Amino acid sequence: MDTKTIYLDNNATTKTAPEVVEAMLPFFHEHYGNPSSIHRFGGKIRKHVDDAREQVAALLGAKPTEIYFTSCGTESDSTAVRGFVDEHDTLSRLITSSVEHPAIRNLCHVLRKRGIPLAEIGVDDQGLPAMDTLGATDIDEHTLATFMWANNETGVVFPIKEIAETVKAKGGFMHTDAVQAVGKIPIDVKSVPIDMLSLSGHKVHAPKGVGAIYLREKTKIAPFLIGGHQENGMRAGTENVAFIVGLGKACELAAKHMEEENTRVRRLRDRLESALLERCPGAKLNGHRTNRLPNTLNISFEFIEGEAILLLLDEKHIAASSGSACTSGSLEPSHVMRAMSIPYTFAHSSTRFSLSRYTTEDEIETVIAVLPPIVSHLRSLSPFVK
Ligand code: PLP
Repeated sequence: MDTKTIYLDNNATTKTAPEVVEAMLPFFHEHYGNPSSIHRFGGKIRKHVDDAREQVAALLGAKPTEIYFTSCGTESDSTAVRGFVDEHDTLSRLITSSVEHPAIRNLCHVLRKRGIPLAEIGVDDQGLPAMDTLGATDIDEHTLATFMWANNETGVVFPIKEIAETVKAKGGFMHTDAVQAVGKIPIDVKSVPIDMLSLSGHKVHAPKGVGAIYLREKTKIAPFLIGGHQENGMRAGTENVAFIVGLGKACELAAKHMEEENTRVRRLRDRLESALLERCPGAKLNGHRTNRLPNTLNISFEFIEGEAILLLLDEKHIAASSGSACTSGSLEPSHVMRAMSIPYTFAHSSTRFSLSRYTTEDEIETVIAVLPPIVSHLRSLSPFVK
């Protein structure tokens, strides 16, 4: 990345931490053996994969034997949910939320087409799930629920413990897409009764191309990739050792620094939020103010297009993201904004700033100086503003 860019799109992907790159490098040119080999050159690599498994498990409060490496968050989601469905012939209901990432949302729609009834639980205007609707939904031992831990667009953190307890109390099974939550907020699977959890390396300062699934002991799923005995037969294919080592290191760093980073990042995010709300006409926060990831700010500016804001920010070397998807020439607000019933005049300009441990105070002050004039300029062009 050019050094000039102010990168505030960390929910899309993160910079690989230098410590992670350093930990990975020997596994390209020095320790390139296959961990399944009988000879020592390969066999000694196994220990590094096992160490990484311990580092990932430690961040989640899990046992190392409950962690399986994958290639990304999407593979983790598909393996967990589809693998569970494939393993349980008698599964008769899927439950999810209306604001899931496409990795779960589209998968659930495919499974519905395969004949499994799907219940989608809505959210309120703060992005929190309708717990009374969930409580009234039929759940039994043939039900799988999949709810995200934190939303990628708004950063809203779901009450996952309460959701899991509701599902488990009625005998159901529970998966959570924790891709945005892992490394940003504390997670302890010992105190939250989920059966399966998905995570992704590139959201936690590991590289793209590695992820993991947590499968609580005795949870049975059909493997997605079939072949060799790797990952205890749950995910065949020679292990991507360098990337697995990188994910382990990234999880170790997250566990070590989460508390202090959260405090600093939240302070910067709050500074950005209050300055933009104060200085930008028609600004409105999207998502619950407190039940939210410390790094995420999703804000709308009434009557203007998010894409226009992003392009003008891009000209100033500021990378952010929008909640609209440009499909077939029309800018439609995202399914998350629609599910939250955000009025169209606001939903179109939903803009996401997502910070990381590398975000500096100077960068935030630059955005605070640059964005309000952009918003004023765009509003002056809007036919809807009098
Ligand atoms: N789930 C959530 C909540 C996400 O935010 C993402 C990526 O943005 C994914 C799943 C997919 O992860 P990956 O890009 O590693 O496949």
